[in-house]
Amino acid sequence: MLLIDPARGIIVDGNRAACEFYGYPEEILRGMQLSRINTQGDADIHHEMQNALAERRNYFVFYHRLARGEVRTVEVHSSSIIVDGRTLLFSIVFDITQRKLAEHSLRTASLVFENSSEAMSVLDPHGYMITVNPAFTAVTGYPPEEAVGAHKSLLQSDREDPEVYRTLWQTIEATGSWQGEIWTRRKNGERFLRWLSVSTIYDENGVVKSRVAQFSDVTRKRETDELIWRQANFDALTGLPNRAMFHDRLEQAIMKAARQGEQLALLFLDLDYFKEVNDTLGHAMGDRLLQLAAQRLHHCVRASDTVARLGGDEFTVILNDVAEAHSVERVVQTILRTMAEPFLLGVEKVYVSASIGITLFPADGNDADLLIKHADQAMYAAKEQGRNRFSYFTPSMQNAAQARKRLVNDLRTALDEHQFEVAYQPIVDLRTGEIRKAEALVRWRHPQRGLISPAEFIPIAEQTGMVMDLGDWVFRQAAHQAAKWRAAHHPAFQISVNVSPVQFRDDGINQEAWLYYLERLGLTGHAVAVEITEGLLMDATPAVSQQLYSFRDSGVQVALDDFGTGYSSMAYLKKFDIDYLKIDRAFVQNLTPGSDDLALCEAMIVMAHKLGILVVAEGVETAEQRDLLAASGCDFAQGYFFSRPVPAEEFDRLFVKG
Ligand code: C2E
Ligand code: CA
Ligand code: CA
Repeated sequence: MLLIDPARGIIVDGNRAACEFYGYPEEILRGMQLSRINTQGDADIHHEMQNALAERRNYFVFYHRLARGEVRTVEVHSSSIIVDGRTLLFSIVFDITQRKLAEHSLRTASLVFENSSEAMSVLDPHGYMITVNPAFTAVTGYPPEEAVGAHKSLLQSDREDPEVYRTLWQTIEATGSWQGEIWTRRKNGERFLRWLSVSTIYDENGVVKSRVAQFSDVTRKRETDELIWRQANFDALTGLPNRAMFHDRLEQAIMKAARQGEQLALLFLDLDYFKEVNDTLGHAMGDRLLQLAAQRLHHCVRASDTVARLGGDEFTVILNDVAEAHSVERVVQTILRTMAEPFLLGVEKVYVSASIGITLFPADGNDADLLIKHADQAMYAAKEQGRNRFSYFTPSMQNAAQARKRLVNDLRTALDEHQFEVAYQPIVDLRTGEIRKAEALVRWRHPQRGLISPAEFIPIAEQTGMVMDLGDWVFRQAAHQAAKWRAAHHPAFQISVNVSPVQFRDDGINQEAWLYYLERLGLTGHAVAVEITEGLLMDATPAVSQQLYSFRDSGVQVALDDFGTGYSSMAYLKKFDIDYLKIDRAFVQNLTPGSDDLALCEAMIVMAHKLGILVVAEGVETAEQRDLLAASGCDFAQGYFFSRPVPAEEFDRLFVKG
């Protein structure tokens, strides 16, 4: 409260509150020039005081400077009083700085809100829109009357994984804010990418009062970004990755292969006779040829592989995770075949071919530059050898590839030329020690190379489809032998044959023929069993299941080979009505009392027995292994300890011994 003398423009008196507010002791405040605290000029002060005296207005807003220099906004209510014949102004001063500030920021906020080019909406704590600004309507197409009261999910787009929205709101719940790009839906259904920033307003108790979502349409920007990125990384003519992108991908592929201990192949491909096409038919046709060639190449590889164009008629292919060299060769053969097919350019039918160089990581080089260099050299070697062919970088690989090619050829005639034999390995009943079963294992006696292991030629027979005829032949041999041994040794003698998953493909095994063969020998289905692998069950088609069930119906038992090395699913055993489970040699090899492998064998045996399945242990080589297995309740065993796989005549002598 101040008492002011308007005639002299001085403060006559102030109360304690005034002294405290202005920060002056009473004796200084008293008699102080009004202009010391009022920031306006003397003329203005005088004018306002005249207003007060005339009672034209009774309150004023001034800016008063305090003793420490700070300026506050004050509201002054004045009325004139007469003291000792003098007209003074009795003024009550209210500090309204805070209120003014708040009003101001509200006003600017709402100005910003209304005029911002950024779309904004204010949400209540439950995600319903309380208010939206004009930009919101411009961007989303929703007028305020439709948006206000609607849930935030109004803008949710099916182009975005719902999981993204969920984590977004989880983040907001937890931290109060989120920023990022997110796909959104306009009222007309159009989808757009918005840059969204959400912040939260809390009340004084920390409870969420509202949230402000602010966003802009960045679809265009993303599109230009993508376009720039595409131009920098992709070949405009073919749409394939360009040299820069190819380098990136190769570096990444090498890193991944190194980390995971995998092999990768890099192919260098050059079109033969491209220059001739370009020269005779013109550049436009040459370009078209490159586009078509790129498409064909692309179709020859898996989605995870990379096809790139380095420039001109040079292409590269990165094949990731190649298990074996011959799987690379398969792809390369496909590429050569595809490229050799005629290209239709306008009315012209054009023939070109490709020359391909192959390098393998890590064998032929362990960095990108070296691999590229070697692949390039290998490609030139292929060109020199007469085009339309491939060449490996390393001579040793070249040799291996040639050896394999010869083997494929030799295998074609092996069956007709009676080069196959069947060896039998006894399977012993662990309770009695008697030989009641045998496994038939095929052998190839190659005229030049001698005995070749099935591990080497079965995969080739599988790839070439020859395993069908070979499998039929082994089956007939085994059935024939079972009939003999049933007559000579034991009426329940059983021989198991290994059946490749490939035999189940397409039309599958001709079971009628197999059963007819057994019948002619006077045998029931029980005389033979088939050994299958878990892989077959894992991707069993209905046709495969059907074949397995019809084996069961005809009394042919089914054994699951190499158990424990793959998926080892008990569920499959039950589903497919498996009769025997063969524990893989890997577990038997290191059996010692108290070992983990023993615990694993015991577990497999117990579980199998629960399902009514008998267990055969493979690869038993010592008496200790046999004893541990017998003590664990294992039903049968086979392995070198009892006998190696032997020809039938030799097997006869085992019966005598046993
Ligand atoms: P498999 O079915 O697991 O056959 C067992 C393999 O272990 C045989 O190798 C056998 O000689 C060997 N073996 C047996 N006892 C012992 C032992 O105590 N110690 C050791 N270290 N090895 C033992 P083999 O004859 O070389 O056959 C290899 C694979 O070739 C077989 O593995 C089987 O998957 C496949 N195979 C053999 N014959 C045929 C056939 O007629 N058709 C098909 N599709 N595959 C066959
Ligand atoms: Ca087997
Ligand atoms: Ca096995």
